[in-house]
Amino acid sequence: MKALEKSKTREFRSRFSGEVLLPGDVNYDDVRQIWNAMIDRRPALIARCVSPEDIVQAVKFARINNLLVSVRGGGHNIAGNAVCNDGLMIDLSLMKNVQVRPNVGRATVEPGCTLADFDAAAQKHGLATPLGINSTTGVAGLTLGGGFGWLSRKYGMTVDNLLGADIVLADGTAVRANETENADLFWGLRGGGGNFGIVSRFEFQLHRVGPDLLSGLMVFPFEQARSVLKQFAGFTESMPDELNVWMVARKAPPLPFLPENVHGKEIIALALCYVGDAAEAEKLIAPLRRFGTAHGEHIGVQPYTAWEQAFDPLLARGARNYWKSHNLTQLSDGAIDAIIKYAGKLPSAQCEIFVATLGGQTSRVAPEAMAYSNRDVNYVVNVHGRWESPDDDQRGIAWAREFFAASQPFASGGAYINFLTEDESDRVAFAYGATYSRLLEIKKKYDPTNFFRMNQNIQPAG
Ligand SMILES: Cc1cc2nc3c(=O)[nH]c(=O)nc-3n(C[C@H](O)[C@H](O)[C@H](O)COP(=O)(O)OP(=O)(O)OC[C@H]3O[C@@H](n4cnc5c(N)ncnc54)[C@H](O)[C@@H]3O)c2cc1C
Repeated sequence: MKALEKSKTREFRSRFSGEVLLPGDVNYDDVRQIWNAMIDRRPALIARCVSPEDIVQAVKFARINNLLVSVRGGGHNIAGNAVCNDGLMIDLSLMKNVQVRPNVGRATVEPGCTLADFDAAAQKHGLATPLGINSTTGVAGLTLGGGFGWLSRKYGMTVDNLLGADIVLADGTAVRANETENADLFWGLRGGGGNFGIVSRFEFQLHRVGPDLLSGLMVFPFEQARSVLKQFAGFTESMPDELNVWMVARKAPPLPFLPENVHGKEIIALALCYVGDAAEAEKLIAPLRRFGTAHGEHIGVQPYTAWEQAFDPLLARGARNYWKSHNLTQLSDGAIDAIIKYAGKLPSAQCEIFVATLGGQTSRVAPEAMAYSNRDVNYVVNVHGRWESPDDDQRGIAWAREFFAASQPFASGGAYINFLTEDESDRVAFAYGATYSRLLEIKKKYDPTNFFRMNQNIQPAG
C-alpha cells in the first residue's frame, strides 16, 4: 500500500474538522470494514467528514495528490465501492443530522444517515418517505441508485421524492441541484449512483405514514411453493397501491411463531405492509391466508419503524455476501420454476431468493423523467448469496450465478443499479437503458476526468 507523506497528511488535518485515520490507527480497521465482509480493502487514508466543508477539503486533497476516491454513506453497497485500496475513503457516516419541517412536509437529511435515523426523526411527526426494508442501509446510496421499499407502491421510488440536493463536484465546488438549479445534474443524481459528485445534504418530500401500520409475515411450507407463488403472482398484479407483499424463499429462522420442527427447513414467507387503515388491510389480506396451509403467521399493527427493523437480524453486517438480481414485469411460470429449483438447494442457511414487488406509483413516472428509468418493473428478483466462511465462497457464488442464468429468460429490461455486484460493471449500460446516453453527457459536463469512479461507473462521453 502507498504511504502518504506525513507533511501532506499533517497539512490536510489542519484544514479538516473531522477525524483522519491512517493504517494502524485505532479505528482504521473498524471504519474501513463495510457491511459485506467479502470486501477487504485498505485505503491510504480515511477522512471522516463532519461538515460539507470537510467534503470540499477531502475532494481537493484527493485531487492535488492524485488519489483514487471512494465515498461511504451507510456502507451497505454489495459491490463494496464505499472503500478503495490505496486511495482516500471519504466517510460520511458521522454526518447524521435530519431536520423535519412538518408544516411543509419536507426533510433535509445528511448523507451519513441510515434509514433508521431518517425514519425515527420523520415518524415523530407521523411522516415518512419511501426507503428500503433494512433499517441499517444508508439513505445516500439507496437514494442515488433509485430506492424502493414498503411505501413505494403508494408514494413512488425514493428518487421520486427527492426535491433537491447539495453536492460537492469533482473540482471541489459546492453547488445545489433541483428542478430549477443545475436541473441536468438533478436529473442525473436521481438514479446516477454517485457518479457526479458527493451529496452533502438531501431534501425529501414526506407523506403521512402510520406511525402504526398493519404488517408482518405469513410462512408456508416449501412443499406448497408452486401454488403459493402462482397465487402470489396473480394477487400482486391487482392489489391496491397501499398494500405491498414481498416473497422470500429461504430456510426458516428460529422465529417464535413457527413450530420448532420447521426451524432450518425451506419455507416460503410472504412479508406484507399496508399503508392505511388496519381494518381495511385485514379485509385485503384475507385471501393470502387461503394460498395454502401456513406453518404460522405474525401479523399485526405495529410502528412502521419496528417493521422496518424486522429484517435487520437476518441481514446484519459481517457476513460474506454475493447478490445478483433481475427486473421482471411479470412473475411468470418460468421464473417461479427457477425460484423453486434454486430455493430447493440453498448452499447455506442464510441464502435466500426474494421477490420485491414494485409497480403502483413507481410505474406512473415517465422513464425519461430522471436517470432511474426502469418504470415497467413490477418485481425485482434478488438472489442473496450469504454465508460466514471464505471456504463457502465458491459454492455460494456458483449457486447465485446459476440461479441468475436460469431466471434470465424471464427477466425484462434494465437492472437495479444498487443490487449490482463488484463483477457486473458490464451491466451498467443495460441497467440504465434509455437514459444511459444522457448520463454519459452529464458525466462529461460535471466529472470529465472520471474523478468519481468507485461506483457503478458511467464513463464521460467521448
Ligand atoms: C441488507 C440490504 C438491504 C437492502 N434493501 C434495499 C431495499 O429494500 N431497497 C433498496 O432500494 N435498496 C436496498 N438495498 C440496496 C441499497 O440501496 C444499496 O446497497 C445502497 O448503495 C446502500 O447505500 P449506502 O449508503 O448504505 O451504501 P454505501 O456503500 O455507503 O454507498 C454506495 C455507493 O453510493 C455512493 N454514495 C454513497 N453516499 C454518497 C454521497 N453522499 N454522495 C455521492 N455518492 C454517494 C458511492 O458511489 C458509494 O460507493 C439493500 C442493501 C442491503 C445490503
